[in-house]
Amino acid sequence: MTVGSATTERTEHAYRQAARLIFTSHYTVALTGAGISTPSGIPDFRTPGSGLWERYDPAAAASLTTFRYSPHQFYEWVRTLMGEWIAAEPNPAHRALAELESAGRLQCLVTQNIDGLHQRAGSRRILCLHGTLDSATCGSCYRQTGSEEVLTALRTPGALPRCVRCGGVLKPDVILFGEQLPRATLDAARREFRRAELILVAGSSLEVVPAASLPLEGIERGAHLIVFNRIPTYLDERADVVLHEDVALALPTLVRLALHDNA
Ligand code: ZN
Repeated sequence: MTVGSATTERTEHAYRQAARLIFTSHYTVALTGAGISTPSGIPDFRTPGSGLWERYDPAAAASLTTFRYSPHQFYEWVRTLMGEWIAAEPNPAHRALAELESAGRLQCLVTQNIDGLHQRAGSRRILCLHGTLDSATCGSCYRQTGSEEVLTALRTPGALPRCVRCGGVLKPDVILFGEQLPRATLDAARREFRRAELILVAGSSLEVVPAASLPLEGIERGAHLIVFNRIPTYLDERADVVLHEDVALALPTLVRLALHDNA
């Protein structure tokens, strides 16, 4: 047997094993990260040394301090981010997870992504740990609004998106560096992972805490674990199935096997 065919055989075995785990689980929770949206053209928001951070220093751009004290600098970064966000469409990995949910095989989707692509692909039960670009909140009076007001203001160079009620600067509803994750969302995510029989990590390198530690809540209670990520993660050694492939290719294959080929 050649090395090539041995690798293929191992990969096929991994897909079948993962499909079987999905097929037999009564409560599956997925955790997704930047890797699921990079095939859609969304740069990695939070991992230093990759994506957006080749152009911006995280400490100098996406931080609460910069928003408060240098809002023009903050909004230069947001302008770039939102330009890429507006152009992005869900990819086959987003659609595969939405399909899994509508087939009753995925009970909750927890994401580190702020791009809303899961929602646009049709996922409904979703917890956005790092917030969303879909809305913004006034830093002074806390009025919440859709992203349109931000996008409209950003069309004028040098303008800051301001609240129509009080004139305060609007802040996109994303969790910045230096900000705590919303307590209610984090608690809800913990409950989901504790309840899970199966955890599917897809497109997250599990490097950003506390999101990265959430799967442990379930694993320590006996949940099975599938990790689909391009590069190794710290949980690979605890996983039932690990696959280091492009999730835009791997997830649709897995979902097809789990739903249509009867595992
Ligand atoms: Zn206001």
